[in-house]
Amino acid sequence: MSRKQLARSGGDLSRLGADDTGATMLHLDMDSFFVSVELLSRPELLGRPVIVGGRSGRGVVVSASYEAREFGVHAAMPMARAMNLCPFAEVIPPSHGLYSTFSQTVFDLVAQVTPDFWQVSVDEAYIDVSGAVRRLGSPALITSELRAEIAARTGLRASVGIAGSRVVAKLASTRAKPNGQLLVPLASTQEFLDPMPIEALPGVGEKTREAFFRYGIRLIGDLAAVDEAWAGRVFGAHGHHLWRGAHGWDSHGMDRQVKDRSISAEHTFGEDVWDLSQLEHELLRLTDKVAHRVRADGKVATTLGLKYRLGDFTTLSRSVTLEAPTDLAQEMYEALRPAMRDLRAQRSKGVRLLGVRAAGLMDFTVSGRQARLDEAEHSGREAEVALDDVRRKFGTAAISQASLLSRHPNSE
Ligand SMILES: [Mg+2]
Repeated sequence: MSRKQLARSGGDLSRLGADDTGATMLHLDMDSFFVSVELLSRPELLGRPVIVGGRSGRGVVVSASYEAREFGVHAAMPMARAMNLCPFAEVIPPSHGLYSTFSQTVFDLVAQVTPDFWQVSVDEAYIDVSGAVRRLGSPALITSELRAEIAARTGLRASVGIAGSRVVAKLASTRAKPNGQLLVPLASTQEFLDPMPIEALPGVGEKTREAFFRYGIRLIGDLAAVDEAWAGRVFGAHGHHLWRGAHGWDSHGMDRQVKDRSISAEHTFGEDVWDLSQLEHELLRLTDKVAHRVRADGKVATTLGLKYRLGDFTTLSRSVTLEAPTDLAQEMYEALRPAMRDLRAQRSKGVRLLGVRAAGLMDFTVSGRQARLDEAEHSGREAEVALDDVRRKFGTAAISQASLLSRHPNSE
Protein backbone atom coordinates (compact mmCIF):
# COMPACT_ATOMS: atom_id res chain seq x y z
CA MET A 1 0.00 0.00 0.00
CA SER A 2 1.16 3.54 -0.67
CA ARG A 3 1.59 5.96 2.20
CA LYS A 4 -1.62 7.69 1.13
CA GLN A 5 -3.61 4.49 1.19
CA LEU A 6 -2.15 3.74 4.60
CA ALA A 7 -3.08 7.09 5.99
CA ARG A 8 -6.62 6.46 4.85
CA SER A 9 -6.94 3.41 7.03
CA GLY A 10 -7.62 4.47 10.57
CA GLY A 11 -10.33 5.22 13.06
CA ASP A 12 -13.83 6.63 12.87
CA LEU A 13 -13.63 10.22 11.69
CA SER A 14 -17.15 11.15 12.67
CA ARG A 15 -16.16 11.07 16.34
CA LEU A 16 -13.52 13.77 16.05
CA GLY A 17 -15.85 16.71 16.59
CA ALA A 18 -16.19 20.14 15.02
CA ASP A 19 -14.31 22.58 17.28
CA ASP A 20 -11.73 24.29 15.07
CA THR A 21 -10.43 26.66 17.77
CA GLY A 22 -6.66 26.85 17.40
CA ALA A 23 -6.59 24.42 14.46
CA THR A 24 -4.87 27.02 12.35
CA MET A 25 -2.54 24.87 10.25
CA LEU A 26 -3.94 23.80 6.90
CA HIS A 27 -2.45 21.32 4.46
CA LEU A 28 -3.83 21.89 0.98
CA ASP A 29 -3.33 19.27 -1.68
CA MET A 30 -4.92 19.42 -5.13
CA ASP A 31 -6.77 16.24 -6.13
CA SER A 32 -4.95 14.24 -8.84
CA PHE A 33 -3.59 17.58 -10.01
CA PHE A 34 -1.95 16.70 -13.32
CA VAL A 35 -4.82 14.50 -14.48
CA SER A 36 -7.39 17.08 -13.41
CA VAL A 37 -5.63 19.84 -15.33
CA GLU A 38 -5.59 17.66 -18.47
CA LEU A 39 -9.26 16.76 -18.07
CA LEU A 40 -10.25 20.44 -18.09
CA SER A 41 -9.66 20.38 -21.84
CA ARG A 42 -10.89 16.79 -22.29
CA PRO A 43 -14.18 16.62 -20.41
CA GLU A 44 -15.20 13.54 -22.41
CA LEU A 45 -12.67 11.56 -20.33
CA LEU A 46 -14.21 12.47 -16.96
CA GLY A 47 -15.09 9.40 -14.93
CA ARG A 48 -12.71 7.19 -16.91
CA PRO A 49 -9.34 5.76 -15.90
CA VAL A 50 -6.79 8.33 -17.05
CA ILE A 51 -3.04 8.33 -16.56
CA VAL A 52 -0.66 11.23 -17.17
CA GLY A 53 2.84 10.04 -17.93
CA GLY A 54 5.43 9.05 -20.49
CA ARG A 55 4.20 6.49 -22.99
CA SER A 56 7.62 5.23 -24.03
CA GLY A 57 9.00 1.92 -22.79
CA ARG A 58 10.65 3.47 -19.76
CA GLY A 59 7.91 6.00 -19.00
CA VAL A 60 6.51 6.39 -15.51
CA VAL A 61 3.13 7.42 -14.15
CA VAL A 62 3.10 11.09 -13.13
CA SER A 63 -0.48 11.07 -11.93
CA ALA A 64 -3.54 8.83 -12.18
CA SER A 65 -7.25 9.59 -11.95
CA TYR A 66 -9.15 8.06 -9.04
CA GLU A 67 -10.76 5.66 -11.54
CA ALA A 68 -7.29 4.40 -12.56
CA ARG A 69 -6.18 4.20 -8.93
CA GLU A 70 -9.00 1.73 -8.32
CA PHE A 71 -6.92 -0.66 -10.43
CA GLY A 72 -3.85 -0.12 -8.26
CA VAL A 73 -2.16 2.44 -10.51
CA HIS A 74 -0.24 5.13 -8.64
CA ALA A 75 2.31 7.87 -9.26
CA ALA A 76 5.94 6.85 -9.92
CA MET A 77 4.88 3.39 -11.12
CA PRO A 78 6.48 2.22 -14.39
CA MET A 79 4.02 2.83 -17.21
CA ALA A 80 4.37 -0.74 -18.44
CA ARG A 81 3.14 -2.02 -15.08
CA ALA A 82 0.31 0.52 -15.01
CA MET A 83 -0.85 -0.61 -18.43
CA ASN A 84 -0.86 -4.20 -17.24
CA LEU A 85 -3.06 -3.29 -14.30
CA CYS A 86 -5.36 -1.04 -16.26
CA PRO A 87 -5.07 -1.73 -20.00
CA PHE A 88 -8.00 0.48 -20.97
CA ALA A 89 -6.66 3.61 -19.31
CA GLU A 90 -6.31 6.71 -21.44
CA VAL A 91 -2.65 7.80 -21.34
CA ILE A 92 -1.89 11.50 -21.74
CA PRO A 93 1.69 12.75 -22.11
CA PRO A 94 2.54 15.53 -19.60
CA SER A 95 2.27 19.13 -20.81
CA HIS A 96 4.48 20.99 -18.37
CA GLY A 97 3.79 24.68 -18.85
CA LEU A 98 0.11 24.17 -18.19
CA TYR A 99 0.61 22.82 -14.69
CA SER A 100 2.63 25.75 -13.43
CA THR A 101 0.06 28.18 -14.83
CA PHE A 102 -2.73 26.50 -12.85
CA SER A 103 -0.47 26.13 -9.85
CA GLN A 104 0.20 29.84 -9.86
CA THR A 105 -3.52 30.67 -10.02
CA VAL A 106 -4.16 28.39 -7.04
CA PHE A 107 -1.38 29.89 -4.93
CA ASP A 108 -2.33 33.44 -5.86
CA LEU A 109 -5.70 32.64 -4.26
CA VAL A 110 -3.95 31.17 -1.21
CA ALA A 111 -1.85 34.34 -0.96
CA GLN A 112 -5.06 36.38 -0.69
CA VAL A 113 -5.88 34.45 2.49
CA THR A 114 -2.45 34.87 4.08
CA PRO A 115 1.19 35.37 3.15
CA ASP A 116 2.07 32.68 5.71
CA PHE A 117 2.10 29.66 3.46
CA TRP A 118 4.79 27.22 2.47
CA GLN A 119 4.43 25.74 -0.96
CA VAL A 120 6.01 22.28 -0.92
CA SER A 121 5.28 21.20 -4.47
CA VAL A 122 3.41 22.29 -7.56
CA ASP A 123 0.06 21.35 -5.99
CA GLU A 124 0.63 21.26 -2.25
CA ALA A 125 1.16 23.79 0.55
CA TYR A 126 0.99 24.32 4.28
CA ILE A 127 -1.02 27.40 5.19
CA ASP A 128 -0.85 28.98 8.64
CA VAL A 129 -4.13 30.88 9.02
CA SER A 130 -3.54 32.01 12.60
CA GLY A 131 -3.05 35.57 11.36
CA ALA A 132 -6.14 35.48 9.13
CA VAL A 133 -8.78 34.22 11.55
CA ARG A 134 -9.79 37.62 12.86
CA ARG A 135 -10.21 39.02 9.35
CA LEU A 136 -11.73 36.01 7.56
CA GLY A 137 -13.35 33.76 10.16
CA SER A 138 -12.62 30.35 11.62
CA PRO A 139 -10.15 27.91 10.00
CA ALA A 140 -12.95 25.63 8.75
CA LEU A 141 -14.76 28.57 7.18
CA ILE A 142 -11.58 29.92 5.58
CA THR A 143 -10.98 26.45 4.17
CA SER A 144 -14.41 25.97 2.62
CA GLU A 145 -14.30 29.43 1.05
CA LEU A 146 -10.80 28.90 -0.31
CA ARG A 147 -11.75 25.54 -1.82
CA ALA A 148 -14.86 27.05 -3.41
CA GLU A 149 -12.80 29.91 -4.81
CA ILE A 150 -10.21 27.54 -6.26
CA ALA A 151 -12.96 25.44 -7.87
CA ALA A 152 -14.67 28.54 -9.31
CA ARG A 153 -11.48 30.05 -10.73
CA THR A 154 -9.75 26.91 -12.02
CA GLY A 155 -12.30 24.11 -12.20
CA LEU A 156 -9.92 22.07 -10.00
CA ARG A 157 -10.61 20.43 -6.68
CA ALA A 158 -8.54 20.83 -3.55
CA SER A 159 -8.60 18.74 -0.40
CA VAL A 160 -7.54 20.30 2.88
CA GLY A 161 -6.59 19.00 6.30
CA ILE A 162 -7.18 21.40 9.21
CA ALA A 163 -5.25 20.78 12.41
CA GLY A 164 -2.93 22.19 15.04
CA SER A 165 0.31 21.16 13.36
CA ARG A 166 1.73 20.34 9.97
CA VAL A 167 2.11 16.64 10.55
CA VAL A 168 -1.53 16.24 11.55
CA ALA A 169 -2.82 18.55 8.81
CA LYS A 170 -0.98 16.49 6.21
CA LEU A 171 -2.42 13.22 7.45
CA ALA A 172 -5.86 14.84 7.55
CA SER A 173 -5.76 16.13 3.96
CA THR A 174 -5.04 12.60 2.79
CA ARG A 175 -8.15 11.34 4.52
CA ALA A 176 -10.20 14.26 3.23
CA LYS A 177 -9.71 13.21 -0.40
CA PRO A 178 -11.25 13.51 -2.86
CA ASN A 179 -12.70 17.01 -2.81
CA GLY A 180 -13.08 17.27 0.92
CA GLN A 181 -11.84 18.94 4.06
CA LEU A 182 -11.18 17.28 7.37
CA LEU A 183 -10.87 19.06 10.67
CA VAL A 184 -8.92 17.41 13.48
CA PRO A 185 -9.83 19.39 16.61
CA LEU A 186 -6.87 19.92 18.95
CA ALA A 187 -8.57 17.82 21.61
CA SER A 188 -9.04 14.90 19.19
CA THR A 189 -5.51 14.85 17.78
CA GLN A 190 -4.32 11.74 19.59
CA GLU A 191 -7.57 9.93 18.90
CA PHE A 192 -7.09 10.69 15.20
CA LEU A 193 -3.47 9.54 15.11
CA ASP A 194 -3.60 6.44 17.34
CA PRO A 195 -5.29 3.95 14.96
CA MET A 196 -3.14 4.82 11.93
CA PRO A 197 -0.45 2.40 10.76
CA ILE A 198 3.02 3.56 11.83
CA GLU A 199 4.21 3.84 8.23
CA ALA A 200 1.59 6.51 7.55
CA LEU A 201 3.70 8.86 9.68
CA PRO A 202 5.90 11.05 7.47
CA GLY A 203 9.53 10.02 7.89
CA VAL A 204 8.83 6.31 8.44
CA GLY A 205 10.30 4.45 5.49
CA GLU A 206 10.63 0.74 4.90
CA LYS A 207 13.62 0.27 7.23
CA THR A 208 12.21 2.28 10.10
CA ARG A 209 8.91 0.47 9.76
CA GLU A 210 10.65 -2.90 10.03
CA ALA A 211 12.57 -1.75 13.07
CA PHE A 212 9.37 -0.53 14.73
CA PHE A 213 7.69 -3.84 13.93
CA ARG A 214 10.48 -5.71 15.70
CA TYR A 215 9.56 -3.80 18.85
CA GLY A 216 5.85 -4.46 18.32
CA ILE A 217 5.11 -0.92 17.25
CA ARG A 218 2.58 -1.14 14.43
CA LEU A 219 0.33 1.85 14.96
CA ILE A 220 1.11 5.51 15.53
CA GLY A 221 -0.58 5.06 18.91
CA ASP A 222 1.96 2.37 19.84
CA LEU A 223 4.80 4.83 19.30
CA ALA A 224 2.98 7.59 21.16
CA ALA A 225 2.67 5.26 24.14
CA VAL A 226 6.39 4.56 24.57
CA ASP A 227 8.87 6.69 26.42
CA GLU A 228 10.47 9.46 24.35
CA ALA A 229 13.88 8.59 25.80
CA TRP A 230 13.50 5.02 24.54
CA ALA A 231 12.66 6.24 21.03
CA GLY A 232 15.75 8.42 21.18
CA ARG A 233 18.00 5.60 22.34
CA VAL A 234 16.85 3.21 19.63
CA PHE A 235 16.43 5.60 16.70
CA GLY A 236 18.57 8.61 17.62
CA ALA A 237 17.45 12.09 16.60
CA HIS A 238 15.02 10.59 14.14
CA GLY A 239 13.39 8.71 17.02
CA HIS A 240 12.77 11.95 18.93
CA HIS A 241 11.36 13.52 15.79
CA LEU A 242 9.02 10.61 15.05
CA TRP A 243 7.91 10.30 18.66
CA ARG A 244 6.91 13.95 18.60
CA GLY A 245 5.10 13.37 15.30
CA ALA A 246 3.21 10.48 16.88
CA HIS A 247 1.79 13.06 19.30
CA GLY A 248 0.97 15.47 16.50
CA TRP A 249 3.76 17.79 17.53
CA ASP A 250 6.13 19.43 15.13
CA SER A 251 8.02 22.65 15.06
CA HIS A 252 5.23 24.45 13.22
CA GLY A 253 2.15 23.93 15.29
CA MET A 254 0.81 22.75 18.57
CA ASP A 255 4.12 22.24 20.24
CA ARG A 256 4.21 25.56 22.07
CA GLN A 257 7.62 24.87 23.55
CA VAL A 258 9.39 24.97 20.26
CA LYS A 259 6.86 26.97 18.30
CA ASP A 260 8.43 29.88 16.50
CA ARG A 261 11.77 28.78 17.82
CA SER A 262 13.68 29.22 14.64
CA ILE A 263 16.75 31.10 13.52
CA SER A 264 16.63 33.03 10.30
CA ALA A 265 18.43 35.55 8.18
CA GLU A 266 17.43 37.33 5.02
CA HIS A 267 18.83 39.76 2.55
CA THR A 268 17.18 42.28 0.23
CA PHE A 269 19.16 43.01 -2.90
CA GLY A 270 19.74 46.57 -4.04
CA GLU A 271 18.55 45.55 -7.49
CA ASP A 272 16.62 42.46 -8.56
CA VAL A 273 19.07 39.64 -9.16
CA TRP A 274 18.90 37.22 -12.08
CA ASP A 275 22.35 35.72 -11.92
CA LEU A 276 22.48 32.22 -10.46
CA SER A 277 25.99 32.49 -9.11
CA GLN A 278 25.12 35.71 -7.32
CA LEU A 279 22.06 34.02 -5.77
CA GLU A 280 24.15 31.06 -4.70
CA HIS A 281 26.75 33.35 -3.20
CA GLU A 282 24.05 35.04 -1.14
CA LEU A 283 22.51 31.71 -0.16
CA LEU A 284 25.89 30.62 1.11
CA ARG A 285 26.36 33.82 3.09
CA LEU A 286 22.91 33.43 4.68
CA THR A 287 23.41 29.75 5.58
CA ASP A 288 26.74 30.71 7.10
CA LYS A 289 25.08 33.34 9.24
CA VAL A 290 22.26 31.04 10.32
CA ALA A 291 24.53 28.04 11.02
CA HIS A 292 26.79 30.21 13.16
CA ARG A 293 23.84 31.23 15.32
CA VAL A 294 22.50 27.67 15.48
CA ARG A 295 25.91 26.50 16.77
CA ALA A 296 26.14 29.38 19.20
CA ASP A 297 22.83 28.18 20.71
CA GLY A 298 24.12 24.60 20.98
CA LYS A 299 21.39 23.41 18.62
CA VAL A 300 20.94 21.53 15.37
CA ALA A 301 18.21 22.14 12.80
CA THR A 302 15.94 19.38 11.54
CA THR A 303 14.19 21.46 8.88
CA LEU A 304 15.25 24.37 6.74
CA GLY A 305 13.23 27.01 4.99
CA LEU A 306 14.01 29.09 1.95
CA LYS A 307 12.23 32.37 1.28
CA TYR A 308 12.37 33.58 -2.28
CA ARG A 309 10.77 36.91 -3.10
CA LEU A 310 10.49 38.16 -6.66
CA GLY A 311 10.70 41.73 -7.87
CA ASP A 312 6.88 41.94 -7.95
CA PHE A 313 6.77 40.91 -4.24
CA THR A 314 5.44 37.44 -5.00
CA THR A 315 6.93 35.36 -2.21
CA LEU A 316 7.65 31.70 -2.69
CA SER A 317 9.00 29.40 -0.06
CA ARG A 318 10.32 25.93 0.25
CA SER A 319 10.80 23.75 3.26
CA VAL A 320 13.33 20.94 3.38
CA THR A 321 13.30 18.22 6.02
CA LEU A 322 16.86 17.10 6.57
CA GLU A 323 17.93 13.46 6.51
CA ALA A 324 20.04 14.18 9.55
CA PRO A 325 19.96 17.31 11.73
CA THR A 326 22.74 19.80 11.16
CA ASP A 327 24.45 22.91 12.47
CA LEU A 328 26.71 23.33 9.47
CA ALA A 329 26.48 25.99 6.77
CA GLN A 330 27.85 23.66 4.16
CA GLU A 331 25.10 21.08 4.74
CA MET A 332 22.40 23.74 4.92
CA TYR A 333 23.63 25.24 1.70
CA GLU A 334 23.65 21.90 -0.08
CA ALA A 335 20.16 21.09 1.17
CA LEU A 336 18.69 24.42 0.03
CA ARG A 337 20.52 24.94 -3.22
CA PRO A 338 18.39 22.50 -5.28
CA ALA A 339 15.22 24.16 -3.95
CA MET A 340 16.51 27.56 -4.97
CA ARG A 341 17.46 26.36 -8.43
CA ASP A 342 14.06 24.78 -8.78
CA LEU A 343 12.30 28.05 -7.88
CA ARG A 344 14.51 29.95 -10.28
CA ALA A 345 13.69 27.50 -13.08
CA GLN A 346 9.97 27.84 -12.37
CA ARG A 347 9.87 31.63 -12.34
CA SER A 348 12.10 33.48 -14.72
CA LYS A 349 11.94 36.73 -12.79
CA GLY A 350 14.52 38.74 -10.91
CA VAL A 351 14.88 38.06 -7.21
CA ARG A 352 14.39 40.81 -4.68
CA LEU A 353 14.93 39.00 -1.42
CA LEU A 354 16.40 35.74 -0.23
CA GLY A 355 15.90 34.27 3.23
CA VAL A 356 17.07 31.19 5.11
CA ARG A 357 15.45 29.73 8.19
CA ALA A 358 16.60 26.91 10.44
CA ALA A 359 13.75 25.31 12.36
CA GLY A 360 12.83 22.19 14.27
CA LEU A 361 15.78 23.00 16.51
CA MET A 362 16.94 20.44 19.01
CA ASP A 363 19.85 20.25 21.40
CA PHE A 364 23.11 19.26 19.76
CA THR A 365 23.76 16.76 22.53
CA VAL A 366 20.57 14.74 21.95
CA SER A 367 20.66 15.05 18.19
CA GLY A 368 22.84 12.05 17.42
CA ARG A 369 25.16 14.47 15.69
CA GLN A 370 27.71 13.88 18.44
CA ALA A 371 28.02 10.25 17.40
CA ARG A 372 29.23 11.30 14.01
CA LEU A 373 32.05 13.43 15.33
CA ASP A 374 34.64 10.79 14.53
CA GLU A 375 33.66 10.51 10.94
CA ALA A 376 35.83 11.90 8.20
CA GLU A 377 33.16 14.36 7.15
CA HIS A 378 33.91 16.35 10.25
CA SER A 379 36.79 18.17 8.72
CA GLY A 380 34.01 20.47 7.48
CA ARG A 381 32.71 20.86 11.00
CA GLU A 382 36.12 21.69 12.41
CA ALA A 383 36.59 24.36 9.80
CA GLU A 384 33.27 25.99 10.60
CA VAL A 385 33.80 25.82 14.35
CA ALA A 386 37.26 27.33 13.90
CA LEU A 387 35.59 30.22 12.11
CA ASP A 388 33.30 30.71 15.09
CA ASP A 389 36.43 31.31 17.18
CA VAL A 390 37.77 33.77 14.66
CA ARG A 391 34.49 35.63 14.70
CA ARG A 392 34.43 35.72 18.47
CA LYS A 393 37.86 37.29 18.48
CA PHE A 394 37.62 39.64 15.54
CA GLY A 395 33.89 39.97 14.97
CA THR A 396 34.30 39.89 11.26
CA ALA A 397 32.13 38.07 8.77
CA ALA A 398 34.36 38.78 5.82
CA ILE A 399 36.84 36.08 6.73
CA SER A 400 34.20 33.39 6.93
CA GLN A 401 32.62 34.29 3.65
CA ALA A 402 35.90 34.25 1.83
CA SER A 403 36.88 30.91 3.33
CA LEU A 404 33.55 29.33 2.62
CA LEU A 405 33.55 30.55 -0.92
CA SER A 406 36.93 29.07 -1.57
CA ARG A 407 35.44 25.70 -0.58
CA HIS A 408 32.49 26.38 -2.85
CA PRO A 409 33.56 27.65 -6.20
CA ASN A 410 30.37 28.37 -8.10
CA SER A 411 30.22 24.90 -9.48
CA GLU A 412 27.21 23.91 -11.53
MG1 LIG B 1 -1.96 16.38 -5.02
